[in-house]
Amino acid sequence: MKKELIARLNRVNDRIRMAAARANRNPARIRLVAVGKNHPVSKIKVFNDHGVELFGENRVQELRDKQKQLEDEQIKWHFVGHLQRNKVKYLMRMSNCLMIESLDSWRLAREIDKRARRNNRKMPVLVEVNIARDQNKYGIMPEETLDFLKEVAGLEKIKVRGLMTVVPYAEDPEQTRPYFHQMSDLKDRANSRGFELEELSMGMTNDFEVAIEEGATIVRIGTALFGKRDYE
Ligand SMILES: *Cc1c(COP(=O)(O)O)cnc(C)c1O
Repeated sequence: MKKELIARLNRVNDRIRMAAARANRNPARIRLVAVGKNHPVSKIKVFNDHGVELFGENRVQELRDKQKQLEDEQIKWHFVGHLQRNKVKYLMRMSNCLMIESLDSWRLAREIDKRARRNNRKMPVLVEVNIARDQNKYGIMPEETLDFLKEVAGLEKIKVRGLMTVVPYAEDPEQTRPYFHQMSDLKDRANSRGFELEELSMGMTNDFEVAIEEGATIVRIGTALFGKRDYE
């Protein structure tokens, strides 16, 4: 298993580098978040031992279980899924949960601010944008994003570092390009209004190369690293 995982990691890193080269981008400005949901911690351990610096989970309970099993490993986490307000406190207590990538409502923002204050930290977040206006997805609507950023800027214990999106799956990843392009535009527009957004988290197994060509600074990759998820 270990050999196969390392081979997959090398392949993903190569593909990231090649996509960056095509877009004349510095590959050092693209970070990999390895999303290990539904996979055992043994795989996370292998990747952690072989240079992967960030891991993502989309469920708080699973993240807490894994953190407990990986206590000695010094894993750095990003939370990437829809976050219920009553679970925020658990993330705020984990000093190695470095970012919430999925801020998708004002009420969640207020709860993060409150719990961050209580834990004496300032929480880095990304604002999740529903760029495809998909009924089945979470996220702030694109046309509401600038107003939302302005409101969140008033919360002392939240630091918005950028934007994140999950685009609809497309057989041909080229079809996702317009969405990624719109995300880049939105980030540029925000920055021209005085915000300081550095990160664009976009692109998953199916479409991360297109996302990188359009400006992704964080790619969240599960299947291409861990293999198929086993949902029983
Ligand atoms: C599962 C998940 C990913 C990774 O998906 P793959 O297609 O397996 O690479 C990325 N982002 C989020 C928010 C996820 O839930």
